[in-house]
Amino acid sequence: MKHRIISDSQIKSVLSCQVKYDLGYVGQLVGGRPLKKRTPYFRFSAGRAWGAAIQAWHRTGDKQHALIEAGLEFRRDEDEIVERGGVIDDVERADTWATIEDVLNWYVANHPEPLGLESTEVPLFVTLTRGYRLEGYVDGTFRDADGRLWLYEAKYRSKLTSYDQIMRDRQVWLYAWAWEKQYGEAPVGAIKEEVLAEAPKPVRFNQDGTPSATQSCTLNDYLAACRRTATEPRETTVEALNAKKRMQRVEILFTKRGVELAGKQAQSAARLIGMFDRGDLAPIHNPSQMSCSTCAFKDVCVDPTDEGVIDALFERVDPARYRQEARHG
Ligand code: SF4
Repeated sequence: MKHRIISDSQIKSVLSCQVKYDLGYVGQLVGGRPLKKRTPYFRFSAGRAWGAAIQAWHRTGDKQHALIEAGLEFRRDEDEIVERGGVIDDVERADTWATIEDVLNWYVANHPEPLGLESTEVPLFVTLTRGYRLEGYVDGTFRDADGRLWLYEAKYRSKLTSYDQIMRDRQVWLYAWAWEKQYGEAPVGAIKEEVLAEAPKPVRFNQDGTPSATQSCTLNDYLAACRRTATEPRETTVEALNAKKRMQRVEILFTKRGVELAGKQAQSAARLIGMFDRGDLAPIHNPSQMSCSTCAFKDVCVDPTDEGVIDALFERVDPARYRQEARHG
C-alpha cells in the first residue's frame, strides 16, 4: 500500500498556520497545486554541510574526514543549484565554506572528545494512521558506558535557541517513539547540540598595539593577547566574551509517557493532515508576528486568488501526497 509521507516540519507547519501549510503542501486554496517560491538565487545549505561534518567527526574523530563529508554536501548543493537554473556565487560559496571550516576548527579544538556515534543519518519510516507514514532521519546514535542508547541531533544556528525552548521541542520525543516502533529498542535520552554558525574572529587591536575593548574572538585568545602586550584585561570585555556561547548541548531524558504522548500527537496530526488532503477542512489563517515575518506566502495569503501575482512569484508544484507517493511508491 502506498503511503503519504509526513515529516516533523509538515506537522509543525500545519500546527503553526493551516493556510501556510495548505499553500506549501496541498494547494486547496490555489486550485489544487501548492506553491514554491521562485527565486533567482539559491543559497548553499550550510546547515546540511555542517550536519555532514559533525556527524563524521563524532563517528570517526577525524577532522579531515569531516571536512571531506562537508565538501561532498557542498558538491551536492552545487549540482542542485545548477539543476534549478541558478548560478554559483563564488564569493558566497567561499565565505560559507570558510565559516564552516573555521567553526569546525574551533569546535574540535574546544571539544576534542568525539561522541563515538555508532550510526548516523538513520531513517525512520513509521505508520501513523492508515495511509500516512512518518519520515524522519536521526542525525546519530551512541551508547553510554552502561550500553544505553541515546539519540544525537545537531543544528547549525545563527542564534542559539533558549534552553526552555529546546526542552519544549517535540521532535526528538517523536523520533524516540518512532525508533522504538521501527527498531524495537527504547532510547534512554537525546543530546541536542547547537553550534553558532559564526567563526570566532582574530583579536582586534587599538592603534597603540593593545587589545581593543570590543572583541568577537574567544576569551582565551583575548587573554593571551593581553598577556603578550602586558595589558590588563578589561572586566567588561572578559564578561562579554565569557557570556558569548558558541555551542550548547542539552541532555533530554525520555519518559515512557512522554514518548507515548509524542506518538499519539503525531497520529492526531496525521489525521488532521488527512482531512486537509481530502478537502474536508478549510485551512484557517493563524497570523503571528513571528511566523508571518519569515513566511514565504506573506504577500499572497490574505486573498490568494490573484493568479497573475501568484504565477509571478511562485511555481506550482505537485501536492505533497502525490510527490511523496511517487518517491516512495
Ligand atoms: S503570512 Fe502568516 S497568516 Fe499568512 S500564511 Fe504565512 S503564517 Fe499564515
